Amino acid sequence: MTAARLDGRAVAAGILAEVEERVRARTGAGLPTPHLAVVLVGHNEASETYVRGKHRDAERVGMTSSDHRLPVTATTEDVVGLVASLNGDPEVSGVLVQQPLPPQVSVAATVEAVDPVKDVDGFHPVSAGRLLLGQPGLVACTPAGILRILDHYGVGLEGRRAVVVGRSNLVGKPVALLLLGRNATVTVCHSRTLDLPAICRKADVLVVAIGRLWFVQPDWVKPGATVIDVGVNRRPDGRLGGDVHPGVAEVAGGLTPVPGGVGPVTRAMLMANTCQAEEARRPG
Ligand code: NAP
Repeated sequence: MTAARLDGRAVAAGILAEVEERVRARTGAGLPTPHLAVVLVGHNEASETYVRGKHRDAERVGMTSSDHRLPVTATTEDVVGLVASLNGDPEVSGVLVQQPLPPQVSVAATVEAVDPVKDVDGFHPVSAGRLLLGQPGLVACTPAGILRILDHYGVGLEGRRAVVVGRSNLVGKPVALLLLGRNATVTVCHSRTLDLPAICRKADVLVVAIGRLWFVQPDWVKPGATVIDVGVNRRPDGRLGGDVHPGVAEVAGGLTPVPGGVGPVTRAMLMANTCQAEEARRPG
């Protein structure tokens, strides 16, 4: 069996087209254009590349965006102060503090400084709490994107066994909650889990987010299962590879590629969240 390729770029294109339509509807009705504000502290080549991508995506969907820079010597108070000013700016729909931050800056303090109504990264404790309680709100882009991939390809979740490998606040825990919210029977695994292969083999839907190259082996996967590979790792030849061994494609029913799977959808979800934040704050 060769797994269907769950093409993240196609899913992302659909999300961006939908957001573009929503933005056009708003501006056509005379409502303000959604605006994404990105806070950058110091200079990090990878962050610069990611942020350029975010501005390109915003432009593509008809939104505006801006950079707000602080030097590498900035303190937590400097970052929190800048975030507070963006919270107070009525023209800003979403505030994102680009990570990594310099070591002297508290990540928790900056995440908590973002007004939950502008929390387009979905990292604020209020956003995480709403997800836990099953209330509507802004959901972190990667877990929300994973659900969009499953929906796009018509993967049924109700009553099915989902296994999530990884329990980070960024991916594993929120995706487990989203799957639970869709009535899947969810098992969450981590580095202390005993007999991980046996648990993975039970999964109808297997989500792997651990950050270890090609860790999940073909004989850990139930034939026909849907496998979402979140991992982004460097291969020895310098190219990118996922957490799931390429041989899994011979066993699974569907598999997200790396690159070109979860990554592009995560990026597109930031635009969806920015639009959602603006719609919620100023419904018109
Ligand atoms: P993280 O915070 O480092 O968490 C990794 C998780 O994997 C932890 O819960 C850890 O368990 C678990 N783990 C590590 N080794 C394991 C093992 N041998 N067996 C079972 N579980 C193990 O990582 P993250 O932020 O969730 O990211 C995970 C991966 O996804 C990374 O490669 C990252 O680059 C990628 N990622 C991709 C996107 C995207 O857009 N494509 C977005 C976010 C993340 P413990 O809790 O027990 O330590």
